Amino acid sequence: MEEMARKAQELGWKFMVITDHVGGIGIVHPLDEKRLAKQGAEIDKLNNKFEQNKLDFHLFKGAEVDIKANGELALSKEACKKLDVVLASIHSSFRMANGEMTKRICHAIENYPVHVLAHPTARNIPERDPIDFDLEKVFQTAKDQSVYLEINGQPKRMDLKDSHVQLARELGCEFVISSDAHSKDQLTYLRYGLLTARRGWLQKSDILNTHTVAQTEKQLQR
Ligand SMILES: [Zn+2]
Repeated sequence: MEEMARKAQELGWKFMVITDHVGGIGIVHPLDEKRLAKQGAEIDKLNNKFEQNKLDFHLFKGAEVDIKANGELALSKEACKKLDVVLASIHSSFRMANGEMTKRICHAIENYPVHVLAHPTARNIPERDPIDFDLEKVFQTAKDQSVYLEINGQPKRMDLKDSHVQLARELGCEFVISSDAHSKDQLTYLRYGLLTARRGWLQKSDILNTHTVAQTEKQLQR
């Protein structure tokens, strides 16, 4: 985490969210509640260190939590509430009919304190087609629940795509842009997300992570 943070500082970022995976099937080395708590304590230590060294940089505590086939999250509501940022996303049971998949995603974001719906179509280039769901219904539900939509800059994902972003924006949704970095060198993938956001006609004000640490903290309160 410290290495990632150092790289983020080099890139001129003021904050970063750590979002390791929590979940079951299809995920390598997922965290559970106990390991999340341990990671949280380490993040506190690092934030103290940044403060002592007068570095204008903050790490947020997050997790990317699996949406199970039945629409429940792989982490309890109580454990979600201990995090600054909860991402929800699909990593298993990809072949569901449109209606069921739509219900599954909406159930997750309506019933858990989710901040971000991550890589909403679950497409993985060149291995997996996007999942089938009612985009408009899910975007509308995300807006109603104040859930941000992720624009994922990881080249394997590039998800949402520009036309999705434009549709979601017209429905009043707000967004985060992420690198989905799994190593420090992948942090620069943020740029691909940024370019997609531009193609979706987004403005700075549509995107959560253009704000300051204090503003972002406020927006994340649930
Ligand atoms: Zn993911």
